[in-house]
Amino acid sequence: MAEPTRAPSVDKAGRKIDAVAATLDAAYGPRRWHAHGDPLDELVATVLSQHTSDTNTARAFASLKAAFPDYEAVRAAPTAAVAAAIRTGGLAQVKAPRIQRILDAIAAEHGALSLALLRGMGLDAARAWLLGLPGVGPKTAACVLLFALGLPALPVDTHVHRVARRLGAIGPQVSAERAHAVLEADLGDDRDRVYAFHLNAIAHGRAVCTARRPSCDRCPLTGCCDYYAVIAT
Ligand code: SF4
Repeated sequence: MAEPTRAPSVDKAGRKIDAVAATLDAAYGPRRWHAHGDPLDELVATVLSQHTSDTNTARAFASLKAAFPDYEAVRAAPTAAVAAAIRTGGLAQVKAPRIQRILDAIAAEHGALSLALLRGMGLDAARAWLLGLPGVGPKTAACVLLFALGLPALPVDTHVHRVARRLGAIGPQVSAERAHAVLEADLGDDRDRVYAFHLNAIAHGRAVCTARRPSCDRCPLTGCCDYYAVIAT
């Protein structure tokens, strides 16, 4: 992370989110969106990422792709075989049937195991379609929308939620699920900006604004942080 530059509490227009986003960009670098891959791959990988590390997710995903020639084979396989293939990702007994239920639903709804139909939809319609799949919540849907489709949806994971709540970018009672809509409305429809905010808030949550003991003494966001305003008095 670059040397901290203290952020003002709001930008010239009085918007906290803009001051926060600009400061995170300065600290961690602006990021430009790039396509992460096929939407169905992204959806499956996101299911595999639940409650495990990025490394384990990548291992489980690679193992799944190596074990089956395509998603039709994953769908048709005994659930135990799918679970065996994704064992390195943890919670395989939960994730295997979840993936198969999602594949069943996509096939039933769309007639093909593909999410290519989402490319022609706008953000709201594509999100509604994804949320109609079994076991797909706001964060999983937002990962597909942002990373694979380039739509300005913000995945709110535990780091994004914690950092946003401490800063006061969302209210103290706003759940992670609800935070998707609140933060997206504030960030606007620039996908590069949404993408950068997502990655930078995670980086900040991991390196500085950690769950147990945030390192406020080396944080560039003290000037616009509600949590810091309380502990500094
Ligand atoms: S000032 Fe402290 S609580 Fe606020 S964002 Fe920075 S590290 Fe987190």
